[in-house]
Formats: sequence, structure tokens, C-alpha cells
Amino acid sequence: MDLHHFSLRQLREGLHNKNFSARELTETLLQRIHTLNPQLNAFITVAEATALASAAEADARLAKGESGPLLGLPMAHKDIFCTADLPTTCASKMLENFVAPYSATVVERLAAAGMVMLGKLNMDEFAMGSSNETSYFGPVHNPWNVDMVPGGSSGGSAAAVAAGLVPVATGTDTGGSIRQPAALCGITGIKPTYGRVSRFGMIAFASSLDQGGPMARSAEDCALLLDAMAAHDPRDSTSHPAAASDFLRGLDRPLQGLRVGVPEEFFGEGLDPEVAAAVQAGIDQLAKLGASVQSIRLPNNPHAVSTYYVLAPAEASSNLSRFDGVRYTHRSHAVENLDDLYRKSRYEGFGAEVRRRILVGAYVLSAGYYDAYYLKAQQVRSLIREDFRRAFAEVDVIVGPTTPGPAFGLGAKNADPVSMYLADIYTIAVNLAGIPALSMPCGFTRSGLPIGMQLMGDYFADDLLLNVAHRYQQETDWHLARPNLQTGEA
Ligand code: GLN
Repeated sequence: MDLHHFSLRQLREGLHNKNFSARELTETLLQRIHTLNPQLNAFITVAEATALASAAEADARLAKGESGPLLGLPMAHKDIFCTADLPTTCASKMLENFVAPYSATVVERLAAAGMVMLGKLNMDEFAMGSSNETSYFGPVHNPWNVDMVPGGSSGGSAAAVAAGLVPVATGTDTGGSIRQPAALCGITGIKPTYGRVSRFGMIAFASSLDQGGPMARSAEDCALLLDAMAAHDPRDSTSHPAAASDFLRGLDRPLQGLRVGVPEEFFGEGLDPEVAAAVQAGIDQLAKLGASVQSIRLPNNPHAVSTYYVLAPAEASSNLSRFDGVRYTHRSHAVENLDDLYRKSRYEGFGAEVRRRILVGAYVLSAGYYDAYYLKAQQVRSLIREDFRRAFAEVDVIVGPTTPGPAFGLGAKNADPVSMYLADIYTIAVNLAGIPALSMPCGFTRSGLPIGMQLMGDYFADDLLLNVAHRYQQETDWHLARPNLQTGEA
């Protein structure tokens, strides 16, 4: 029985039919993690003891006849979500030994649903990166080709799901960090509408952009997980009162009459021709399912990356000021006075990319530059939001590539931060506007690397995106392809 290929629905059926217990399922996946994690480095912490304890609890609840949709099902969290009983590192030396005094709302909700958490997943340090190479705990390897990056910053989540170490995982997306790694690892992931998923206990990078969401092998599994993740949370002041929804109910709706817009700006220079062809074929498939397709414009999209790299570092420089070497963080010992303690602890605790962001952020917020950079970027942000408002007056869903190219080689973009930043050229505008967007697999390159197609929707159209993706996945089998990993088993 290849339990590691099963969808959440199949796993649930197996549990209810007593084909296996939650404990057996947990042990099987822990064994697979044990075998494959040395090649992939997807997990920072494997939570063997707590996982077996929650599996036993789930088995007891199942035996009593409880039947929650996620009861006993395995998952893992990106290591940016605080967990009271396990370390939360954010893949930084700064938090190497940090155990949070409380759990994130998302962690609490999935635990209450009876899910079995197998551990904490690797990521770019403080979620800053597009390749998972900024992690203090080393890079993650792409399961489709271990010489390639998995994308980032939720690269551990994407690799773990693609490799069958867990059926589903959480991720966070500030400028593309759910969708870009989902595309590069051949899985499905959705960045929900801003405000839908609580940010309480999710370590802040850029608070006006950060949003947690599900990563899975299908849209249906994303919907199941999002159903449990999304809810209004009084502990997060930006949580939307109408955050909850039934994401499963509309999954099967036919796509007849769906108006699809294809932005010209997403098919210009810099787009890999194999990605362009696969995404075009995906759009054709949506047309076959009854959608009408028209060309649209998002004229300010070319400014999205530069706008983001003013605003996100500005917010990060403020958010990361709490890591001061005094309280719960790394502390330098070779210090002479208090200023020295701050300076050295932060220098030693943060990696180069995080330091670069703090520096840029402090600069654009400083007196004299604030108007020229920060304020200007806020104005462009409004124009980008306006682009989408105009587009959604004409179409229901916007479709294009998730990334300009497939997975790239480990180390390939490290010397040039700007080329790394451009990996998010199609994903960032969505965060600036706060709208939902999903990435799903739509093909492979000749060299066997997955290609992702992105669906963007208007505010709170998360359920429509899941519906379109689910209908697409009922007609295609890209999401069913699995990487060929050497487990050493017969
Ligand atoms: N790659 C982008 C960055 O480095 C986005 C990261 C994210 O979405 N967390 O900031």
C-alpha cells in the first residue's frame, strides 16, 4: 500500500474502514521521512514523539466514532508557525534555540481538527528568498532533480509534499512563497485573500503582505486544509470577519461561462518558451471546459518587483527589530557594552540576505528618503491594486505562468540577488493587492521539471480558484505525476 501517494480523502477512507490506524500511517510516513530527508533536507525538526502521541489520541477519537474530516491525517508546518512544544527557528541562527510560549492560531486549529503534525519544515531564513538557499540549516533539494532548488521560501513544504513525506503542509506567501515553490515542485498551493488565514503566531516578515495557506498535491486537498485553517481570529487585527467559508462545497461547479483573462504582461520577454507553451495548453484546456478566454492588461505589473523590494524590506526592518540579542534570540558573548551586544548579536544571528533587507528597509524609511522611496512605492501599490480592480470588472479569473522558468540549479542565482528577485515577477503583484492566487501543475519541461500555472481571483474568490483548479485536475493528470526517488526499498 503506497500510503505516501494517498490523497487526504483516500487516507480518511482508509482510517474509517480500519485498513490502517493513525499510528500505522504516522509510522509509515516517519519511516519515509527518515529514509528521504537526508537527500532532501525538507525537515528542520522531525517531531516523532509528539506525532506518535497525537496519532494515538486520534485513534482513540476514531474508536469512539468521531469523524472529523482531518482527524488522524498527517501534515507538517513551515517552521515560521510558532509551536509551543517544538522549536520554531524560521530557518535562522537567530532563533536556533527558540521555543515559543504559545502556538500559532493555524497550529492550534489543525491540532484541534485532530491532524497529526510530523514536524517543522525548512524554508528561506525569515521567508526571504526564492530558492530555500538562505536557510541557516542548509538548502532543500528538489525531489524531481536533487541538483535543483525547490523554490522558496516555502521550499521545505513543497519538497515534502512532492516527495510524499506528508500529504499536505502549511506555507506562507509574502511575494510568492507558496506559489513559486509549488510550481517548481509540481504541487498545488493557494495564497488566500489577505485576512483569511490568521497571522497570529506566524513570525512576521512583511505584515501587510504575509498570508498563510495550504500546499498539497491537489486542489481538493488544498480546499480541505484551508477549510480548517481559515477563520476570523480576534488575536489578529487584520483577520477578516468573513474569513471562513466552505471551500469544498463549490469544487465541482462546471466552468461553463467562466471568463478567463490572460494578461499580456505575463507572456513577454524573459518567459521560458517551454513554460509559455505548457501554460497556453492549460488555458486551452480551460476553454475546452467551457471558459471564454480574452486578453487583458495589467499595465503596472512591470513595477511590482521594485515596489515590493521597497515595501517588504521596510516592513521587515521594523518587524525584525525585536530580535535584539537580549530576549529570546541568539546572543553574542564577545561584547563590550550594550550597543556592541545588539550589533554583534544581530550580525551573527542574521544571514546575509536578511541583513541586506534590513539595511534596505531602514534606508527607505529614513528621513529624507521616505518620500522618495517608501511613499512612492505605496502610491504604485495603489496603481497595481487598481489594475486588478479594472481587470475583475471584465473577467472572473486571471490565468498565466506562476514563474518565468522551471527550477534552476542550486547556486545558480546566488551571486546576483536581482535575478533571484525576478523569480517572483508574476506572483508579487497579487500580494501587493491582497487578492487570492493559486498555482497548480500544468506540464513538464523536456528535462522532466514541473511547470506551474497561476490562477488569480478577486477578493474572497478563493473558492472559485479552487473550483477551477479542481475541475482542471479532473480532466488532466499533471498533478498525479510523482518524482522517482531512491528509497533503497525493493
Ligand atoms: N521571494 C520573495 C522574497 O524573497 C518572496 C518571499 C515570500 O513570499 N515569503 O521576499
